[in-house]
Formats: sequence, C-alpha cells, structure tokens
Amino acid sequence: MDLISLDRIRAAHDRAELTLGPRSAPLAGGTWLFSEPQPDLEELVDLTTLGWPAVEVTPEGLSLAATCTIRTLVDLPPVAGWASQHLVARCARSLVASEKIWDWATVGGNICLALPAGALTSFAVALDATALVWTPDGGERREPVASLVTGVRSTSLAPGEVLRSVEISAEALAHPAAFRRVALTRHGRSGAIVVGRRDAADGLVVTLTAGTTHPHRLAFPAVPSAAELRAAVEAVDDWYDDPHGAPDWRRAMTVRLAEQVREELA
Ligand SMILES: Cc1cc2nc3c(=O)[nH]c(=O)nc-3n(C[C@H](O)[C@H](O)[C@H](O)COP(=O)(O)OP(=O)(O)OC[C@H]3O[C@@H](n4cnc5c(N)ncnc54)[C@H](O)[C@@H]3O)c2cc1C
Repeated sequence: MDLISLDRIRAAHDRAELTLGPRSAPLAGGTWLFSEPQPDLEELVDLTTLGWPAVEVTPEGLSLAATCTIRTLVDLPPVAGWASQHLVARCARSLVASEKIWDWATVGGNICLALPAGALTSFAVALDATALVWTPDGGERREPVASLVTGVRSTSLAPGEVLRSVEISAEALAHPAAFRRVALTRHGRSGAIVVGRRDAADGLVVTLTAGTTHPHRLAFPAVPSAAELRAAVEAVDDWYDDPHGAPDWRRAMTVRLAEQVREELA
C-alpha cells in the first residue's frame, strides 16, 4: 500500500547512514511495513542495501544477518551434525504467508515485529539464539532473542537500535528437536507453537510461542515427568487473546503439544 505519511525512503550503505530519527524506522523486507498505514513514520531506512552476508556457517554455529530472507534460510543446505536444522522449515511453514512472502520477509523483520505468531522468533528462541544489536552510539550489545521479544509488537530495542544479526551455536543445533503447531483453521495463523530440544547435559528445553504474548523458555535438567511439564506450562499466565484463538484454548493446546514434544524427545 502507499504510505502517504512518508517523506522519503533512504538506502543505508554503511553504519553511519543508519541513523534513525524519532519518526524513522528500519525497512527490511517491507512485507508488514507496506501492509498497513504507518501514520507515525516519515522515513524508512532500507537495511537491505547494507550488503550484510545473509548466512554464515562456521564451526561455532550459524550467524544470520537480520536481512537474511526466510527463503535464503529455508534453502540452506543440510549441515552435517545439525540435528535440529529441520526446525527451519517447520517454523518457516508456520508463517501464514505465501511462499512469495518468503522471498522478501526477513529474519530480523519477523523478530522485531514481535507478533506472537512470529515464526522466526519461535525458531530463534527454541535454539537459544543471541541477538546482536547495533546501538545508536556506534556500539553493540548482545541479548537472548527470548528476552528481546517482550510482548505483542514490543521488544527491548531502544530507540535507534537495530538488530544486526542472530547467532545460534553449533551446540544448540546439534541436538534433536521436536516441533508442534496448531491453528484454528488449516491455513490459519498459529494459535500455539511448542518446540522441544534436548541439550548437551541430557536436559530438555521447551519453548512456547504463538499462544503467549511473548516467548517462554522452560528448561529442565532432565526430561520432566508429564505432570512436571504440565505444571510448568500451566504456570504461564500471559495467554494471548485474538481472533486466532482464545486464551483458554491456547493454554489447553499448549499443554497438549508440550506433552507430545516431551514424549517424542524422551
Ligand atoms: C499474508 C501475510 C501473512 C503474514 N503472516 C505472518 C505470521 O503468520 N506471523 C508473523 O509473525 N508475521 C506474519 N506476517 C507479517 C510479516 O510479513 C512478517 O512478520 C515478516 O517476517 C516481517 O519481515 P519483513 O522483513 O518484511 O519486515 P518489515 O515489514 O520490513 O519490518 C517489520 C518491522 O520490523 C522493523 N525492523 C525490520 N528489520 C529490523 C531490524 N533489523 N532492526 C530493528 N527493527 C527492524 C521494521 O521497522 C518494522 O517495524 C504476514 C504478512 C503477510 C503479508
């Protein structure tokens, strides 16, 4: 759609050009920015012209530029030893969008938009990803993606901060993972997503997204009993409410999916 409040779209070519004013916003794939009016914005600063390498695979793990498209991530060839790499496709498919959107929508745009059904948020949190954030003073800081997304359309990013990349350790990628998702309709937006992952110490990490207003990471030193897991899920108290699912339904579904994940990985 035409964004009639905008004065300009500025392409950033280096960090100095990444300065954001009070009515500026970073532009990534634009799949959300151009999908509804943005009356508070007068400038978009295009990140895609910065030329960040989309994907870097190293012995330490996976580094994804914020501007990496979902398509590029899904097309990443299998990496030997990454038992949980299948989560990429599972999470990407939970984004209720045509594959055309995959060509434009970015990892950073999805996380920074901070919708409960943020597919790449589910992926990143499930794999204990760290966000590298560029601060307006020219510095940088690191924060788990799990705490970067703080609520519906809300993040810990301060004004002027830009998500530069998302980093996932090879260790997190090395262990088996299980994915479950439910939606009210076949092609509906995610109502609840649960991802489980074994860890190096033989524990289980269970991540809840879509059903809650922000991601929840439940970590157990060993595979919990069904009752322990259920109690941990039921202790969550921010079940999301919108036309894609009522809070009590999301809670019940999350309990059920979490148990399926536990059984698969036990
Ligand atoms: C048909 C359709 C279905 C969709 N379904 C879903 C869905 O199921 N789940 C879901 O989560 N979304 C959905 N979306 C919304 C959106 O398309 C996705 O969230 C997408 O991943 C956003 O990425 P983008 O690169 O296009 O972001 P943009 O639209 O470019 O930006 C989104 C927001 O993030 C900010 N931003 C972008 N990059 C950065 C950065 N590096 N640092 C700081 N801020 C940044 C922008 O300023 C903006 O506020 C859907 C959209 C459409 C059109």
